[in-house]
Parts: sequence; structure tokens; C-alpha cells
Amino acid sequence: MSDPANENSAPSDFIRDIVAEDVRSGKYTNIHTRFPPEPNGYLHIGHTKAICLNFGIAHEFGGICNVRMDDTNPEKEETEYVDSIMADIHWLIDGWAEKNLGLKQKSENRSAPFFASDYFEQIYAFAVQLVRKGKAYVCDLSAEQTDEYRRLGKESPDRDRIVAENLDLLARMKAGEFPDGARTLRAKIDMQAPNMWLRDPVLYRIRHAAHHHTGDAWSIYPLYDFAHCLSDYIEGITHSVCTLEFEVHRPLYDWLLEALDLPRPLPHQYEFARLNLTYTVMSKRKLKQLVDDGLVKGWDDPRLPTISGMRRRGVTASVLRDFAYRIGITKYPSMTEVDALEYAMRDEFNRTALRRLAVLHPLKVVITNYPEGKTEELEAVNNPEDPGAGTRKVPFSRELYIESADFMETPPPKYFRLKPGGEVRLKYAYIIKCDEVIKDSSGQVTELRCTADLESKSGGATSNRKIKGTIHWVSAAHAIAAEVRLYDRLFTVPEPDAEGDFKSFINPHSLEVVTAKCEPSLGEAKAERRYQFERLGYFALDPDSRPGRLVFNRTITLRDTWAKEAKKK
Ligand code: ATP
Ligand code: MG
Repeated sequence: MSDPANENSAPSDFIRDIVAEDVRSGKYTNIHTRFPPEPNGYLHIGHTKAICLNFGIAHEFGGICNVRMDDTNPEKEETEYVDSIMADIHWLIDGWAEKNLGLKQKSENRSAPFFASDYFEQIYAFAVQLVRKGKAYVCDLSAEQTDEYRRLGKESPDRDRIVAENLDLLARMKAGEFPDGARTLRAKIDMQAPNMWLRDPVLYRIRHAAHHHTGDAWSIYPLYDFAHCLSDYIEGITHSVCTLEFEVHRPLYDWLLEALDLPRPLPHQYEFARLNLTYTVMSKRKLKQLVDDGLVKGWDDPRLPTISGMRRRGVTASVLRDFAYRIGITKYPSMTEVDALEYAMRDEFNRTALRRLAVLHPLKVVITNYPEGKTEELEAVNNPEDPGAGTRKVPFSRELYIESADFMETPPPKYFRLKPGGEVRLKYAYIIKCDEVIKDSSGQVTELRCTADLESKSGGATSNRKIKGTIHWVSAAHAIAAEVRLYDRLFTVPEPDAEGDFKSFINPHSLEVVTAKCEPSLGEAKAERRYQFERLGYFALDPDSRPGRLVFNRTITLRDTWAKEAKKK
């Protein structure tokens, strides 16, 4: 499947159906969605699903999608996260839906998102209105008591406090007169409601804490449920799309907007099932633990399911969009196999990656009947899937490196690679025969001495000779060294947070670093390109690369080795 950005047929699901109907019926003239991350960590692949859905809808219906920092919680949020979130969103939507990104002010920096905290004054004014209407009250119960009373369906002794007194107390809460937790503002709804969220939920709490965006201006902060529906309203959002856990909050979302008698049409909330992926953890809280405990090397560690980690690993934005498109949108909680993501990578890279020769675990081979000092330039195809990608020359000489796993001294039956006395074809080059195995004092194989069938090259007399195995190689004299980081799944079990501590299931082999021997053309490798090291996998340059010091990340192996392992078991 191709990138949905270039798809003519737009995806379809129950949310898009609703939007289409709202457009058809004329309920809304301009479709306006939003993506509301809390800036308390880096975005992950779950957010990709939400971004592709919200921007996808805006894109397909000629609308706008706002990015809004849901920053109502002063303690956990940081500017570093705001910056990383915007960088990740741009990376994901640029070249696709960047025209649909809602901007705070046309003149401002294109990356400036909206902030729920920008609306603190307005949200406070709405709170005052609710109090005036007798629909909210200041409550002196502690947090524990409030929870307890709500559970029991018991009314607060402050529930019938008179409006004037509520207004006075709320103003003094705002002025910072009371300590943290001393009072709250609560909606006056229904303490017997079967839906717990309607049992006089807290709208404001006292927190004497500095906020990354508003500084020390506030000592009360609105809760998510209060801030969210109002932020949607203030921004003119039409379809407020979120994940299923907010379904039970929807009656409160609607109650608050209605209680304030706001002009119609009001925004409406819709819920879909969040993405869960095997062999990983997804919540920012858990990802933060992995980062803080040094179990990975930062938020952009290529083993993490963060957008920045995947980008560093070599996953492209189009692969992620394609993946989000393939998995679809439903209302049923489910677990998506990580294989689906890996499939999307292989599918794209097979079409786009340049083929190159590189040897990760080198074993020296000397072709004894090949002249010393001679070099041939052999023609190699850049991408068999794309004739337009052309060919290149690869140097061949008397001393080569092959993959040490491509030789076995005592192989099992049906081993078609190199063995003593056996023959194998060197890709784009000759058929060689292993005559002699040289070992060091510890019995380790250090070198193979082989002879080449010098007529077996493409176009030669014996070029059509049937040989079962073909292996890759590089010329020792011409090879350039590269650090190659071989990543594997970060966890050994499909559902690391299903039982016990997810950190006890970390795969000890999730990173292996080798010094590879590469064909010379890889010296010109570009960060934006993907490379298939033939027979090994897909690779991308790491930002640690410097002129003269190549560092590659293995984005994904060519085949699903985990499935093979699972079958063996
Ligand atoms: P986390 O538990 O990872 O912190 P969150 O839901 O608290 O996730 P937010 O920053 O609040 O993270 O999420 C921003 C938006 O992304 C929300 O609309 C949320 O519903 C959506 N989202 C978060 N995780 C996923 C996921 N796994 N799949 C789909 N959408 C998600
Ligand atoms: Mg959250």
C-alpha cells in the first residue's frame, strides 16, 4: 500500500462517516479538529494514530487541526517536551497535512501551538459564571474526603453555600490566600448519578506551583475535564476526537458546555480505541522511567516507540502514516502486533532503499588464483524494484571479506553457503570454491583460501552454472569501516506490562554494536536515504555520523526473525 498522503481513496471509519454526514447536513461549515498532547513526555507511536486521525480528517474535509498543549498540570510539564512535540508533529505532517495545521497567529512562528493555559483567564471567567448560576460551589473537603464522599454518593456540607460566599472564596483561592488542597471548586450536578464523573466533579484545585507557560500567575489550576471542553469551545472545535477512556467523561463534557448556555453548535466528543502494540510499552510515564533509569539512551533511543526514537532508527514519516492508515479506527480495544509496523517498513523500504554491500561480522577470504594488485569494477544494481535507480560499480580484488556466518566448517545438510570444498556465488561477481581453512591457535577460523571460477562472472562462459548459494562480500582493500548499531525489540515478551514490572522483561540483546566493512559508495551515504545492506536488513545513517565516521542504525531486518524463532519453539 502506498502513503495515504498520496492515496486517492481516503480512509473510511465511523468517525469520518460522522464528519461526512455533518458536512452533508450543513451542521458545521468548517471542520475543526485538534490534537491535545499533555507536554509531560515525548510523543509515541500511539500519538501517531491520533495525529493521523485528527490531521487526516482536517486534510480530507478541507478543515483545520489545532495542536493544543493540554498543560493544566503545572508540576509535570516542561518546555523541552513542547519543543519535541512540535518537532515530531511537523516531521509527521509536513509534505502531507501541514496546510491543515491551525496556527495561533498567522504572523507567529509556524511551530507555535495553542496552549490550554492561554485560556486560564477565560476558563476562570466561565467558572465564575457557573458559580453565579448556582451550578458550582467552593468545597472545603480534603482530596481524600472528596473521593470518599463521591464514592458513597454523599453530599458535601458546602454544597448549598450561597453564591456570594462562593464568589468570594473562589476569588480568594485565585488570589493565593489558601494553602494547597485547602479548597476546591466543584460542579453541582448529581451526587447519586450512576456515572461517577457527574458526582460533583472538581473543576479547580489550589496549587502554588510555577507553570512552564504562565509562570507564577496562578495558584489555582483547572482540571482536565473543565479545561478541555472549554478549550475546544474557545477554539471552535467541531469534532473533539479522543481515546475510549474518555467515553465516561463525555456526559460531563456536554453538561459543562450546556450549563454555560454557550451558543450552538457546540463541539462534540467522539472516542476511538487507542493503539496498543506488542513488545513495547506505550505510556509516557513508563517511557520516562526507561529514560530516567538509564535503561535506554534518552527519549530518542531507537529502541523506543517514541516518534523521535523511530525517526532516529530510520523509520520514515510515510511509513508511520501508512501504518496508521492500515490499522484503521474502531471502538474496540485491541492489541496490534508489532509485525504490522515492521511490515509497513519493509514494504516501503523494499521499494525505496538503495541496495549496498556491507559485511557486519567480517571473515577474510583470499582468492588465490586472482592476481595481486588487480582491481575490477563490477556492475551492481541499485534497486531491482526500481530500474530508474540505475547501477553502480563495486570494486573486486584478491582479498575480500564475507559474513562469518556465511561459512561453516561442519555444516548441517542443505547448507548452501560456503563450506570446505564447497562452492558459492559472490553476488555480482564470481563463483568461488573454498580450498583451505586457516585458524589461529585457539581454533578460531581467521581466513579462507579460495579459488574463483574466472569465467563465471556475468557474461562469462560458465556464468550460468547452477550454484545454490549466493553471498555478499566487500573488497578488503577498498572497504570503508562503519559503526553499525543492530537494534532488536526492547522487550522479550509480547505484553511487557501485562504482569509484574515491565522493566524485568527488557531484552538484554536489544542493541549490538559492530564495526562493519562497507562498499566504498556508502561513504556518500545520505541521512534522508534508506539502504538495504543486501541479505541483512534496512539501514539508515545515525545523527552521530561525522565526515569520515559513519554510523548506521539497523531500522529493520529483512525478514521477521522473531516469527522464525517462535515457530522453532
Ligand atoms: P500517555 O498515557 O502515553 O501519557 P495520554 O493519553 O496521557 O497518553 P496525551 O498527551 O494526553 O497522552 O495524548 C494526546 C492525545 O493522544 C489524546 O487525544 C490521546 O487520546 C491520544 N493518544 C494517546 N495515546 C494514544 C494511543 N496509544 N493511541 C491512540 N491515541 C492516543
Ligand atoms: Mg495524559
